[in-house]
Amino acid sequence: MTLKQHLSLTTPLALLALPFLEDPLCALFFWIGGVLIDIDHSIEYVWEKRKFPVSLAAIESFFYNLELKKLYCVFHSYELLVALLAINFFFVQSSYGYSLILGCLLHLITDSLTNQVHWKSYFFFYRLKHAFALGKMLKKELR
Ligand SMILES: [Zn+2]
Repeated sequence: MTLKQHLSLTTPLALLALPFLEDPLCALFFWIGGVLIDIDHSIEYVWEKRKFPVSLAAIESFFYNLELKKLYCVFHSYELLVALLAINFFFVQSSYGYSLILGCLLHLITDSLTNQVHWKSYFFFYRLKHAFALGKMLKKELR
């Protein structure tokens, strides 16, 4: 999903949740998790292209036109969510942490359903096993 699509999905969900939340900041953390994990696309673009500043259009073209050879996207990893969940559960126990994780989970699920890469590509160790090669991440019909 594009950043605009994540904004269009996550923003109304965060606003709808507001009246049901004890702390309105939970909606903000949910929104941050649902939208801002795409920041890893910017990092990867700058790393690969050695260009800065960057435009959103250039980043989206780079990813959606499959101009990259390696797909790292470290924040797009279910393993990271499990680690965050464990840290939050055992050490922090913050409703902000759970809200952030829930937003990230929504982001990963919607990306998994809509993007050109196979759903397994959202596991860091799957990407690592395939040396982050984009060709191994694409859905079969795109290979
Ligand atoms: Zn994403």
